[in-house]
Amino acid sequence: MNLKKIKKHVWNLATLPVTDDPVISCYMTLENGQIKNSRTFERCLLPVKQALLAQKSQSMRDALTPIRSYLADELLPDAKGIAMFSRSGSKPFFLPLQFHVPLPYWAAVDSTPNIYHLVELKETYHRYIILVSSHETTRILEVNVGPVTKELWTKRPERRKRIGQEWTKTCYQKHYMHGGRKYIREEIKILKRLISGSGKTHLILAGHPARTEVIKDKLPKCLLVKLVDLVPLPDITEPSDVVRATIGCFVRAEEEASEYTAELLFQEIQDSGRAVVGLKDCLKTLKENLVDILVLHKTYSPGKEWICTDCGFNSFDNYIPRFCYNCNGHLIKNFKIKEEMVRLAEHIGAKIQLVRQNDALNQLGGVGCILH
Ligand SMILES: [Zn+2]
Repeated sequence: MNLKKIKKHVWNLATLPVTDDPVISCYMTLENGQIKNSRTFERCLLPVKQALLAQKSQSMRDALTPIRSYLADELLPDAKGIAMFSRSGSKPFFLPLQFHVPLPYWAAVDSTPNIYHLVELKETYHRYIILVSSHETTRILEVNVGPVTKELWTKRPERRKRIGQEWTKTCYQKHYMHGGRKYIREEIKILKRLISGSGKTHLILAGHPARTEVIKDKLPKCLLVKLVDLVPLPDITEPSDVVRATIGCFVRAEEEASEYTAELLFQEIQDSGRAVVGLKDCLKTLKENLVDILVLHKTYSPGKEWICTDCGFNSFDNYIPRFCYNCNGHLIKNFKIKEEMVRLAEHIGAKIQLVRQNDALNQLGGVGCILH
């Protein structure tokens, strides 16, 4: 599944209208067309089963049925992870999504779909493009969600044969440098088509240093801002080796981007006040559609919030009472706060930046919002 499709599903889930029927969300790792560890899966289904027992809810039982039957019949042999969202009742909803990357084991019952893990996938697993120039060929590789999924373009593979027959190695190098220049424009055109309008896609130039330098000098501004690094590589390199040699640069670039956003958050707090931190202010500004970027520490785990739908009273408390403290009403909806923040951010079109390690952000409560 490509990034565009993931984005569309996240949007649909984030904007799914709430009904009285609960939504079951579950994620798991797959292997050879099966759940990789079915015991772990059953264990993580426990909160769902407990909720089912406590509420004796037919609606929840009905929501579990398509999940069970999908798992029994529909798993793809090459899928590594699956996310499923299911609701029965007056407005039934069922969405299974299979991926080429593993997902954690996770299950929950809530008023809304739990989309954090899907958002995490969307935000951290992008693609990057590598232009590999060797003495013999120029290749453009797209690395999509882990392994190389496409070798988009191999230029003149027949050249290699000719080189061996007609040119000496040194001459070829010269000739390539000379003749190669006229192909740079063509290569740049293809890079532009692949990268422009695709959001966070990074570019890496790999291969012979002389060649990568020449290409770098010719890159237009729109590609230069996407360039992460130049990686020297031997001439004959298998795609899998290219990925191994470049994936570190890609991960580093992603981490630098998250560091940069965290710094921006601290700066906005100090200088302009156009940022808030902490649970209550972040939730409030998200609900008021004031947020440009939601910055979340990956370990952020704020617990739950419950809201009385009779009187609107709310409380941040992991214990969900049966009756409202304010009006004694029993119509209580509860949310996992992190899930709700992510859902609200997607709903209002705010960017989400996940930060892997940042003590300063942790000390500020693990969450912050940069405002418009
Ligand atoms: Zn109440």
